[in-house]
Amino acid sequence: MKIENYIRDIQGFPKEGILFKDITPLLNDVKARQECLSLLVNSLNGQKIDKVVGAESRGFFFGMLLAQELNAGFVPVRKPKKLPFETISASYELEYGTDSLEMHTDAIKKGDRILIHDDVLATGGTAKAVCELVEKLGGEIVQCNFLMELTFLNGREKIKEFPIFAVLSY
Ligand code: IMP
Repeated sequence: MKIENYIRDIQGFPKEGILFKDITPLLNDVKARQECLSLLVNSLNGQKIDKVVGAESRGFFFGMLLAQELNAGFVPVRKPKKLPFETISASYELEYGTDSLEMHTDAIKKGDRILIHDDVLATGGTAKAVCELVEKLGGEIVQCNFLMELTFLNGREKIKEFPIFAVLSY
Protein backbone atom coordinates (compact mmCIF):
# COMPACT_ATOMS: atom_id res chain seq x y z
CA MET A 1 0.00 0.00 0.00
CA LYS A 2 1.55 3.29 -1.11
CA ILE A 3 -0.33 6.11 0.55
CA GLU A 4 1.30 8.68 -1.74
CA ASN A 5 -0.63 7.13 -4.63
CA TYR A 6 -3.79 8.44 -2.99
CA ILE A 7 -2.62 12.07 -2.85
CA ARG A 8 -3.33 13.95 -6.07
CA ASP A 9 -1.32 16.96 -7.24
CA ILE A 10 -3.42 19.81 -8.59
CA GLN A 11 -1.41 22.47 -10.37
CA GLY A 12 -2.66 26.05 -10.00
CA PHE A 13 -5.24 25.50 -7.22
CA PRO A 14 -6.55 27.60 -5.49
CA LYS A 15 -4.46 30.09 -7.44
CA GLU A 16 -1.71 30.20 -10.01
CA GLY A 17 1.72 29.04 -8.88
CA ILE A 18 0.42 26.71 -6.16
CA LEU A 19 0.73 22.95 -6.33
CA PHE A 20 -2.19 21.74 -4.22
CA LYS A 21 -2.05 18.34 -2.52
CA ASP A 22 -5.54 16.86 -2.79
CA ILE A 23 -6.41 14.24 -0.16
CA THR A 24 -9.87 13.35 -1.51
CA PRO A 25 -8.65 10.09 -3.19
CA LEU A 26 -7.30 9.04 0.22
CA LEU A 27 -10.60 9.83 1.94
CA ASN A 28 -12.39 7.76 -0.68
CA ASP A 29 -10.42 4.53 -0.17
CA VAL A 30 -11.06 2.39 2.91
CA LYS A 31 -7.71 0.54 2.93
CA ALA A 32 -5.56 3.63 2.30
CA ARG A 33 -7.47 5.50 4.98
CA GLN A 34 -7.01 2.67 7.49
CA GLU A 35 -3.29 2.44 6.74
CA CYS A 36 -2.89 6.17 7.22
CA LEU A 37 -4.84 6.09 10.48
CA SER A 38 -2.69 3.22 11.79
CA LEU A 39 0.52 5.11 11.01
CA LEU A 40 -0.78 8.19 12.84
CA VAL A 41 -1.90 6.17 15.87
CA ASN A 42 1.31 4.10 16.02
CA SER A 43 3.43 7.26 15.99
CA LEU A 44 2.06 8.03 19.46
CA ASN A 45 3.66 4.88 20.93
CA GLY A 46 0.70 4.33 23.22
CA GLN A 47 0.79 7.77 24.85
CA LYS A 48 -2.58 8.66 26.35
CA ILE A 49 -4.59 11.36 24.58
CA ASP A 50 -7.60 13.09 26.15
CA LYS A 51 -8.60 15.30 23.21
CA VAL A 52 -7.81 15.51 19.52
CA VAL A 53 -7.91 19.06 18.17
CA GLY A 54 -8.59 19.31 14.43
CA ALA A 55 -8.08 22.43 12.29
CA GLU A 56 -10.80 23.56 9.88
CA SER A 57 -11.63 22.02 7.65
CA ARG A 58 -9.50 19.19 6.29
CA GLY A 59 -8.16 18.51 9.78
CA PHE A 60 -11.63 17.32 10.74
CA PHE A 61 -11.54 14.16 8.60
CA PHE A 62 -8.68 12.26 10.19
CA GLY A 63 -9.00 14.27 13.39
CA MET A 64 -12.34 12.61 14.10
CA LEU A 65 -11.09 9.16 13.06
CA LEU A 66 -8.13 9.60 15.42
CA ALA A 67 -10.38 10.70 18.28
CA GLN A 68 -12.53 7.61 17.81
CA GLU A 69 -9.53 5.27 17.61
CA LEU A 70 -7.83 6.86 20.63
CA ASN A 71 -10.99 6.94 22.71
CA ALA A 72 -10.56 10.70 23.02
CA GLY A 73 -12.76 13.77 22.67
CA PHE A 74 -12.71 15.81 19.47
CA VAL A 75 -12.36 19.60 19.42
CA PRO A 76 -12.95 21.58 16.22
CA VAL A 77 -10.87 24.71 15.63
CA ARG A 78 -12.71 26.97 13.23
CA LYS A 79 -12.51 30.18 11.24
CA PRO A 80 -13.94 33.28 13.00
CA LYS A 81 -17.67 33.47 13.81
CA LYS A 82 -18.41 29.82 13.04
CA LEU A 83 -18.53 28.49 16.59
CA PRO A 84 -21.74 29.25 18.51
CA PHE A 85 -20.52 29.22 22.15
CA GLU A 86 -17.96 31.43 23.95
CA THR A 87 -14.61 31.36 22.12
CA ILE A 88 -10.96 32.27 22.38
CA SER A 89 -9.00 33.21 19.29
CA ALA A 90 -5.46 33.24 17.96
CA SER A 91 -4.27 35.04 14.86
CA TYR A 92 -1.70 33.98 12.30
CA GLU A 93 -0.03 35.54 9.29
CA LEU A 94 -1.07 34.95 5.73
CA GLU A 95 0.85 35.92 2.62
CA TYR A 96 -1.03 39.24 2.76
CA GLY A 97 -2.46 40.25 6.14
CA THR A 98 -3.64 38.05 9.00
CA ASP A 99 -6.43 35.62 9.78
CA SER A 100 -7.55 33.99 12.99
CA LEU A 101 -8.86 30.72 14.38
CA GLU A 102 -11.26 30.08 17.22
CA MET A 103 -11.98 27.38 19.76
CA HIS A 104 -14.68 27.00 22.41
CA THR A 105 -13.50 28.04 25.88
CA ASP A 106 -14.88 24.88 27.50
CA ALA A 107 -13.35 22.48 24.93
CA ILE A 108 -10.15 21.79 26.88
CA LYS A 109 -9.51 21.54 30.62
CA LYS A 110 -6.19 22.43 32.25
CA GLY A 111 -3.86 19.42 32.03
CA ASP A 112 -5.71 17.67 29.21
CA ARG A 113 -3.32 15.71 27.00
CA ILE A 114 -3.78 17.00 23.46
CA LEU A 115 -3.08 15.68 19.98
CA ILE A 116 -3.27 18.37 17.29
CA HIS A 117 -4.09 17.20 13.79
CA ASP A 118 -4.27 18.85 10.36
CA ASP A 119 -3.97 17.49 6.84
CA VAL A 120 -0.99 19.57 5.73
CA LEU A 121 1.87 21.34 7.53
CA ALA A 122 2.89 24.11 5.10
CA THR A 123 4.28 27.38 6.55
CA GLY A 124 3.20 26.30 10.04
CA GLY A 125 1.07 29.39 10.72
CA THR A 126 -2.11 27.39 11.19
CA ALA A 127 -0.52 24.79 13.46
CA LYS A 128 1.13 27.48 15.58
CA ALA A 129 -2.20 29.28 16.07
CA VAL A 130 -3.85 25.99 17.09
CA CYS A 131 -1.03 25.32 19.59
CA GLU A 132 -1.59 28.80 21.06
CA LEU A 133 -5.30 28.12 21.54
CA VAL A 134 -4.59 24.81 23.27
CA GLU A 135 -2.01 26.37 25.57
CA LYS A 136 -4.29 29.30 26.45
CA LEU A 137 -6.68 26.78 27.97
CA GLY A 138 -3.89 24.89 29.75
CA GLY A 139 -3.76 21.82 27.49
CA GLU A 140 -0.54 19.80 27.24
CA ILE A 141 0.44 19.19 23.64
CA VAL A 142 1.59 15.59 23.23
CA GLN A 143 2.10 15.75 19.45
CA CYS A 144 1.17 17.70 16.33
CA ASN A 145 0.51 15.31 13.46
CA PHE A 146 -0.22 15.73 9.78
CA LEU A 147 -0.91 13.63 6.73
CA MET A 148 1.73 15.64 4.87
CA GLU A 149 4.56 18.00 5.59
CA LEU A 150 5.76 20.35 2.84
CA THR A 151 9.34 20.44 4.15
CA PHE A 152 10.54 23.20 1.80
CA LEU A 153 8.23 25.66 3.63
CA ASN A 154 9.90 24.85 6.96
CA GLY A 155 6.67 25.00 8.99
CA ARG A 156 8.23 22.69 11.56
CA GLU A 157 10.36 25.60 12.79
CA LYS A 158 7.24 27.45 14.06
CA ILE A 159 6.15 24.55 16.29
CA LYS A 160 9.57 23.11 17.09
CA GLU A 161 8.93 22.91 20.85
CA PHE A 162 6.43 20.08 20.21
CA PRO A 163 6.83 16.55 18.83
CA ILE A 164 5.82 16.47 15.15
CA PHE A 165 4.84 13.51 12.98
CA ALA A 166 3.84 13.47 9.31
CA VAL A 167 2.83 10.37 7.33
CA LEU A 168 4.33 11.81 4.12
CA SER A 169 7.01 14.43 3.48
CA TYR A 170 7.51 16.38 0.27
P1 IMP B 1 0.11 26.68 6.83
O1 IMP B 1 -0.64 27.50 7.84
O2 IMP B 1 0.85 27.52 5.85
O3 IMP B 1 0.99 25.63 7.47
O4 IMP B 1 -0.95 25.93 5.93
C1 IMP B 1 -1.61 24.82 6.41
C2 IMP B 1 -3.07 24.90 6.12
O5 IMP B 1 -3.30 25.18 4.76
C3 IMP B 1 -3.72 23.58 6.45
O6 IMP B 1 -4.91 23.80 7.19
C4 IMP B 1 -4.01 22.96 5.10
O7 IMP B 1 -5.31 22.40 5.06
C5 IMP B 1 -3.88 24.09 4.10
N1 IMP B 1 -3.01 23.70 2.99
C6 IMP B 1 -1.85 24.27 2.62
N2 IMP B 1 -1.35 23.69 1.54
C7 IMP B 1 -2.19 22.71 1.21
C8 IMP B 1 -2.22 21.71 0.17
O8 IMP B 1 -1.35 21.59 -0.71
N3 IMP B 1 -3.27 20.84 0.20
C9 IMP B 1 -4.24 20.90 1.14
N4 IMP B 1 -4.24 21.83 2.08
C10 IMP B 1 -3.25 22.72 2.13
